[in-house]
Amino acid sequence: MADRPPCPDCGEASIPIMYGMPSYEAFQRAEAGELALGGCVVFEDAPRWRCPAGHVWREEG
Ligand SMILES: [Zn+2]
Repeated sequence: MADRPPCPDCGEASIPIMYGMPSYEAFQRAEAGELALGGCVVFEDAPRWRCPAGHVWREEG
């Protein structure tokens, strides 16, 4: 399991944002709220984490 850093804005538990074409399993996990789907286009500075309040950020360090 990857570490899930707390949101730097509100402290809520984060979920990882997955980029690229999601697999069926990824869809299932997204529906369960275990990850977020970021779309197929990956930007160089795209955020990696998202919290339930909708904040997104990149992992520092
Ligand atoms: Zn937040």
